[in-house]
Amino acid sequence: MERLTKKWDLRFLKRAHDIAQWSKDPSTKCGAVFVNPDTRWEISAGYNGFPRGHDDDAGKYADRVYKLRNIVHAEINAIRNVDGICDKNLFQGSCLYVWPFLTCCDCAESVIEAGVKRVVSPVCSVEKLERWAESFRKAITMYQRAGVSVVQYDGLHEDHEGHFLHDFEMYMEHITSETVC
Ligand SMILES: [Zn+2]
Repeated sequence: MERLTKKWDLRFLKRAHDIAQWSKDPSTKCGAVFVNPDTRWEISAGYNGFPRGHDDDAGKYADRVYKLRNIVHAEINAIRNVDGICDKNLFQGSCLYVWPFLTCCDCAESVIEAGVKRVVSPVCSVEKLERWAESFRKAITMYQRAGVSVVQYDGLHEDHEGHFLHDFEMYMEHITSETVC
């Protein structure tokens, strides 16, 4: 993983941020980018949205219950985007960049299953944490058990530092009162 230095981490986090803006979800725009750590090349990217072929109108995003039941998370879309095209080992040993916060525990399962070895995210805002804390706690525990390292950056500026997280308590230390971007 040493080829993915801080400079590259910030570049790919920025890329995940940019991809996230393509989401039509007005409340939470998420982006995910899988990167080969040896070539530093993007394997796949995705953002959150309704499944392919689904009616994508704004009214359906406004209906919170409907949205949560039907939306596909960015990480899963990024994995599905290469489904059937490339071999299953494509994600083996890869690094995943997510925006604007860590993967949920459901996605963590698929990310681990895909063979990802490192997950990089920005710090989470207090506002978002209220809903996602329990899921993040589970995800961090799952990553630990699977030997996946988790790194959290304070922001996208070159002065910002990445923190290796060993547990949820470390994760909580860096939570901000404002949105990162
Ligand atoms: Zn998820």
